[in-house]
Order: sequence, then structure tokens, then C-alpha cells
Amino acid sequence: MGRTLVKVKYVITCDRKFNVLRRAAIAFEDGIITYVGPEDKTPFSKQYFDEILVEEDGVAIPGLINAHTHAAMNLFRGVCDDLPLKEWLEKEIWPLEAKLSSEDLFYGNLAAFLEMLSTGITTFADFYYFKELIDALKIIPLRAIATVAFLDLVPDGEVYWRRFNELQKYFELADSVEGGLVKVALGPHAIYTCSRELLEKIAEVSEKYMLPVHMHVSETVDEIKFAREKFGKTVVEYLDEIGILNERMIAAHCIHLNEDEIRILGDRRVNCVHCPSSNLKLADGIMPVSRLLKANVNVCLGTDGAASANSLNLFNEMRNTILLQRGISLNPTFPNAREALLMATRNGAKALGLEETVGSIEVGKKADIVLLDGGSPRLLPEHNLVSNIVYSCTPADVLYTIVNGKVLYCRGKFSNINTDSILKIFSERALKLLSG
Ligand SMILES: [Zn+2]
Repeated sequence: MGRTLVKVKYVITCDRKFNVLRRAAIAFEDGIITYVGPEDKTPFSKQYFDEILVEEDGVAIPGLINAHTHAAMNLFRGVCDDLPLKEWLEKEIWPLEAKLSSEDLFYGNLAAFLEMLSTGITTFADFYYFKELIDALKIIPLRAIATVAFLDLVPDGEVYWRRFNELQKYFELADSVEGGLVKVALGPHAIYTCSRELLEKIAEVSEKYMLPVHMHVSETVDEIKFAREKFGKTVVEYLDEIGILNERMIAAHCIHLNEDEIRILGDRRVNCVHCPSSNLKLADGIMPVSRLLKANVNVCLGTDGAASANSLNLFNEMRNTILLQRGISLNPTFPNAREALLMATRNGAKALGLEETVGSIEVGKKADIVLLDGGSPRLLPEHNLVSNIVYSCTPADVLYTIVNGKVLYCRGKFSNINTDSILKIFSERALKLLSG
């Protein structure tokens, strides 16, 4: 992979001290960061590097982390924009999913990866079809959490139980992507699609192999009613009783929560993934982010799938996060832009169990880096760069997306990828699904 030096105007490290460096350089070798600091103190000669990227106006930030998505659902973007979640899922999405072929999913994934790279996303936690995700990651190598989905309260639900005997196969598939880019998570879909026995088994297996558990939690009012009627409890109380809530839990949505539930989520060190665009568009509600943060919950951000949120764009989600909290709390001081950027980087890394690997630009971490165009009208003037990134920046300001030390996207072009043919096949397959 070689040695690369990146010279930029600013590095926003998102490290523990939130250091912002001016006229700085980042060096990395074989995908691992070896230097971050002032440009004139770089401890290597020019000849040492195979590649030197100089961006006079560049602003380096850690690669953004999309902690909850369903990548191949890009196939269904715009299919049914105006339905409640239950109807959307049961009447529209599940019948379409029954028609999906492996090829459809493969191209759906590739299209989503192209979109994510163009919006500065380097890592994502996927919750969909495992094998086709892996096949696509071999073509476009982003960093990913691949989720083994489980749901048994559906027709043929018993087939998912067999997956516990096939875990080795999933580990091998994840390892078949080069560079250690893929980790496995267990994914109970939700409390209304999984039996208690299934959730208990998942908690046990997660403990045994130290695997993250990726789950939809307290997403809709219907789900709250379901828990109340079926178990006489709130969703979080029910999950806590099962023993599945801990620091390995990646809980997507977490919208409808009372104070007790928020306290439990904090005590159990659960990671909550805020997907504001999806939640608003499906009219699900608003996650109480401020209250969760105050209860020491690790809050991170996700785009959800393109079928529900339509766009895999974490700049939108950072901005929406702040604006929504201010709208519901009437408090203009918390959370702020810095906290939103951390949710999209450091907090996301922690949620996915990748805290030591990515989420900040620091020596020893993987070189997952995004370079923004600091000369863009949206990033000027430089009174407050972080504020510009959260409130004003768009994916059009992404110059480079670097994953594991490799430039995968640069100025609108994808490295070594035949984008035109991928998107043509993807688009044709998506249209065919709807017409058949
Ligand atoms: Zn989801």
C-alpha cells in the first residue's frame, strides 16, 4: 500500500482533546497513521513517501461513521415515500424483498457504497443481506459491520435459528474481505419480530463471542404499545430483563423513551443510533438526544436505508440532530456542532466496537480520512470550521474519501471502479423489480 503524506490547511482530529491543527500533515503507512502534526515538523523526508497529496485549502476530518443503514435498500429509494412504518414494511418492502435476487442486492450495495464514499462515509453498520454485502465489499472496500439478521416471529421464522449453527460461515465470509475491514454483528430485527427465546439466545452468543448486537429499539408508538400489551413493560425494561443491554448493543432509533428507560440505557452503556431523517420522514418521532447524552448514553448517527431516509448523507444528519433538539428542548446551547461531529465520528466508532481503530485522526489508528474543500463558499469564512461543517457543508464539499489508507474517491471520481456500468445495471435492476 505504501507511504502517503497528506498536507492540508486544517486537521480536525476529533481526538480526546478535540485538537484542531493548522498547516498540518498526516502521514500513513500501509493504512495506519504514523504522524499527525505541524507540516514543518514531519519527521520524514519527501523521498520517504510514495505519494504526497497537497491540498492548500484542504480540511481533514475523520471518515464519517454511519452506524445504522440497510445499504442495498438503495434499490427502493423513492418507492413508497408516504406510509407509516408498519404498512411501509409489511405492504411494500417485504413483498419487494421476496423478489430480490443476489445480483439485485449486490448492485444495490455497490450503489450505496458509491453514494457513501461521495458523502464522506468510510465506515457503516449494515443490517440486511450478509453474503451480498460481502461480495460488494470485495469490489468497493469500505469498512463495515455486517449484521447476521434474526427474526423468528414471521412465516418461516425458524430458519433464522439455524444461523446460530452457521456462525463460523459468517466469520469466514467477513474475513474473506481483505484488510480486516469487516466485523460481524448479531442482528435481532426488533422486539415485535423476535421471540424472547431468540433474544435470550442472541444475548448469550454475543457474550460468548463478544459480538455487537445491532437492533431496532423503540422506533414507533406501535412498538411501545406492543411491549405494553404483550409484556406489561416498556421496550427497554423488557430488553434489560432479557440481559441483552450492554456496551455491545447498537440500538437504532430509541425514540419513545421514558426517564427510567433513559437511565437504564445510560447505566448499561448502550449505544444509541440517531437516524433523524428516517424518523422524521416515517413520522416516527424524535429521539431525546439531549436527555440521552446527559444520561451518559453514547449517541451516534445513522442514515438508515435509502428506502426510508432516501439519502445516505451524514452531513444532513449532523445538522438535523442539532436543529431537532433545539426545536424540542428550546435550549440553544446543547448539543452543539462539536458534539454533532463527534456523534458522526468518535461516538460511531465506539458504538461499533472500533474505538481503537477509527473515529479520530491519531497515530496508530487506521487512515480513514475525509478531505473537505476548505475553499468552498460553504466552508468560508473560517470563524468556526466545525460549525461550517455541521451547518453548511454538503457532500459537494468532499474532495477525498480515504479508507484504510486508500483513496477510494477523489473530486467526483471513484478509484478503479467502473461507476457508469455499476449504476446502469443497478438502475435497470431496480426498475425491473417494480415492474415485474
Ligand atoms: Zn433500520
